[in-house]
Amino acid sequence: MAHPVPPDFVVIFGRPGSGKSSLAERMGAEFGYNLIRTGEMLRAAIRRHDFLGQRVESHLAKGDLVPDSLIFELLEANLKSPGVSRLLFDGFPRTLGQVPLLEQFERRLDFRIDCYLEVVVSREEAVARMTGRRVCPKCGATYHLIARPPKVAETCDRDGTRLERRPDDTAQVVEFRQQVYDDHALPILDHYERKCPDLCRKVDGAQPFEAVYAETRRALGVRG
Ligand code: ADP
Repeated sequence: MAHPVPPDFVVIFGRPGSGKSSLAERMGAEFGYNLIRTGEMLRAAIRRHDFLGQRVESHLAKGDLVPDSLIFELLEANLKSPGVSRLLFDGFPRTLGQVPLLEQFERRLDFRIDCYLEVVVSREEAVARMTGRRVCPKCGATYHLIARPPKVAETCDRDGTRLERRPDDTAQVVEFRQQVYDDHALPILDHYERKCPDLCRKVDGAQPFEAVYAETRRALGVRG
């Protein structure tokens, strides 16, 4: 079934290293989606050393999930403006317990998710990619040494800040995060496949970035 072009309220799923955040950034730039990136919001709270940041820091460092109650708190603070338009959720919901939280926000802010998009890559490919990942500590832009290098080595294209490796991108933590994805995200995807199969889309994330992006646009029903 073809969607109206493109859907307004999208959730993007993909294992760590699938490239979902780079896709989300590009979709935001092209279609004006407001990006709701819980991982980035959590890292920003840690950088600010605010109360929430202090409570979540150890979870992120271990690659473990933050408790659902804190994610709710985070979104309450970031999602309360009425009149929401074009939202793209990246990193939420991440547990079956967060599925009803999303439904609660849908009711409260009066929107309905109209596409659940999964970027599919194998666990092995994802692990290989993550070791080359870099992030800008200032604006959160993500890069990859091979697949998506910055114009100047190790430097953010947007603001010239020196890029860093995320503390949760070390080998042991990377494997753990993959396991967390298998344990928590796969059941969520099953849930939506059963509940609303016509809203679910999959794209093959094991291609060069531009090809994945082109497939994503087609999956969203965008022509041309
Ligand atoms: P990735 O998708 O590469 O794991 P994210 O930036 O989405 O990166 O998330 C980084 C970390 O932030 C996760 O490993 C987890 O600790 C935490 N996190 C992000 N979103 C959630 C969420 N919805 N629920 C629980 N923890 C989360």
